[in-house]
Amino acid sequence: EVVTRFAPSPTGFLHIGGARTALFNWLFSRHYGGKSLLRIEDTDRKRSTQEAIDAILDGLSWLGLEYDEEPFFQSQRADRHAEVAQQLLASGHAYRCYATPEELEEMRAQQRAAKQPMRYDGRWRDRDPSEAPEGASFAVRLKTPTEGETSIDDLVQGRVTVRNEEIDDYIILRADGTPTYMLAAVVDDHDMGCTHIIRGDDHLNNAFRQLPIYHAMNAIEGGWDDPTYAHIPLIHGNDGAKLSKRHGALGVDAYRDEMGILPEALFNYLLRLGWGHGDKEEFTREEAIELFSLDGVGKSPSRFDIKKLENFNGHYMREADDTRLAEIVASRLGAEANVDLLAKAMPVMKTRAKTIDELVDGSRFLFATRPLQMTEKAAKLLTDEGRQYLFAVSQRLKSENNWTIEALEASTKALAEDLELGFGKLAQPMRAALTGTTTSPGIFDVLVLLGRDEALARIDAQAV
Ligand code: GLU
Repeated sequence: EVVTRFAPSPTGFLHIGGARTALFNWLFSRHYGGKSLLRIEDTDRKRSTQEAIDAILDGLSWLGLEYDEEPFFQSQRADRHAEVAQQLLASGHAYRCYATPEELEEMRAQQRAAKQPMRYDGRWRDRDPSEAPEGASFAVRLKTPTEGETSIDDLVQGRVTVRNEEIDDYIILRADGTPTYMLAAVVDDHDMGCTHIIRGDDHLNNAFRQLPIYHAMNAIEGGWDDPTYAHIPLIHGNDGAKLSKRHGALGVDAYRDEMGILPEALFNYLLRLGWGHGDKEEFTREEAIELFSLDGVGKSPSRFDIKKLENFNGHYMREADDTRLAEIVASRLGAEANVDLLAKAMPVMKTRAKTIDELVDGSRFLFATRPLQMTEKAAKLLTDEGRQYLFAVSQRLKSENNWTIEALEASTKALAEDLELGFGKLAQPMRAALTGTTTSPGIFDVLVLLGRDEALARIDAQAV
């Protein structure tokens, strides 16, 4: 059975790269009918916050990535991590290092000066612990192989080989008895039964450091098979630099709350960020599960493109159920909003909008109270001449009994002809009077959405 896990550190919000890693893990296990697990790597107690944990859980569930078990919390498993460290120690696969911090700092300074790679030099690897001063504190280090090489057949990167001498004897248990990330992640991945480790390629080096733990534990008790790795390229900004806020990259919660992106749009956008299937752009959840494979993941960094995300969002908004959109918009507009009216407005509103935010802004006129606040541009359309036209429009529309788009359009156009005016001469001040803005859905849609009484009252309020 395929088992994947997403293992975020709750030191910040769920960012776009993390969300994509979560999605790829989830799709991979769903594709194979396997299990998706979630592990919160909260061992850094100072930097981990409950707020970040909540934001991660919330963001994942909003994207529809449900997990097959309750989340694991790494900090609760410290005893188990220490237990494995003791097994490694007892079997000679790890050793006690009594080097003091000052001593290690000096070692690093010398390496720096000699322009050598900075790594632990193995000074306690073969020493007898009895040589250490009485009661001295120690860290536990893994005894990594010094000869030969290790290869990983990474499902994205292909075969990657590293000479074992490049991997130093790193710490698995600190002097205070706490496990390091390197040990904790391996023990948890093993205990959770993870078969595939899919994560950002910034962790590729860690794979070479983590494998020796599997190998040692496999020698000790068996059953610690190497996992299959897939290190996916990071996401860059559209200028090729590492992705940051500057590129418009936000936490998942901000795409929802600030920009007004629909979850299915972000899902589809993240899917296409580094993965492809021919030239197909839009995927339903079911299609994504059916078609996803790591073969489709490219080796080069993908570029974050906020315009493309907006285009996806525009597409999914047009597909979305009008009542659902109306409810989202209403929740943002607050008390004055009316879901039924919004739902009626959505078909015309959503043809032009790319984000929920735009829908919200575009819907405000529906609930505006008289006298309407005018934008600067709208106020400029209400010239003396414009106001006189509004008077004529008002007279004409008051005699119109059939308040439909077709009838209102016919009446207004007939009026324009009678007055020998271009239709725009009437429509512009009408738009200003009716919406307080210069951009809105078609003017006859606006008249119908507002209803006869409100529409005429708004026109009369500006007419002379
Ligand atoms: N907690 C690590 C991170 O957030 C993930 C490590 C892993 O996936 O093995 O980068």
